[in-house]
Amino acid sequence: MLTIAVSKGRIYEEALPLLQEAGITPLDDPEKSRKLILRTTRDDVQLVIIRATDVPTFVEYGAADLGIAGKDVLLEHGAESLYEPLDLNIACCKLMTATHKDAPEIVGRVRVATKYVKTAQRYFAQRGIQAEIIKLYGSMELAPLVGLADCIVDLVDTGNTLKANGLEARDLIMNISSRLVVNKAAMKMKHQAIAALLEQFEQTLAQR
Ligand code: AMP
Repeated sequence: MLTIAVSKGRIYEEALPLLQEAGITPLDDPEKSRKLILRTTRDDVQLVIIRATDVPTFVEYGAADLGIAGKDVLLEHGAESLYEPLDLNIACCKLMTATHKDAPEIVGRVRVATKYVKTAQRYFAQRGIQAEIIKLYGSMELAPLVGLADCIVDLVDTGNTLKANGLEARDLIMNISSRLVVNKAAMKMKHQAIAALLEQFEQTLAQR
């Protein structure tokens, strides 16, 4: 049995066609079902539906053989413990700094609200900017509006969320897409099955 960890929402929706090309169609819809383990049209493949930030953890410990996770989440988790063989080119967006529309450019010390603490620390350190990072778990856009932080580090897709809150994107930190990650032991123990799946995904991606 191969277990693939995936999060609900955008990543699941965009991963579904890729999985289907490999003959993997879940027997339940995670948006409707409360099941956390989904059997699929392939007897040898099941999906576990978990929070995006938990995907690397499940794969690292071998609770899932494979996972689909955003590069943003993988950067925060630390990638050394996993193989990351494939960029699936789905759920694409940008990790950016953002602040008030008319705020001056950041110089000197800055307070940054984000859920990407390590990535933000690394980014500001590389640029020689002294940053105090405030960890938030959601609604980052609120932080500059209520004086909690000078700027935020968050994912931006259309920019509509920022715009609706009077903020604007400033610096691009990194282009983000979802990656296939593989447990290191599983890659050896279940090599044939995983290699076949990788090849299938690669073929589908090459045709796009
Ligand atoms: P948008 O308004 O289209 O710029 O989307 C921004 C909001 O969607 C922010 O709250 C982001 O955290 C979230 N978001 C955008 N792209 C992604 C993605 N690929 N994966 C997860 N969350 C995302």
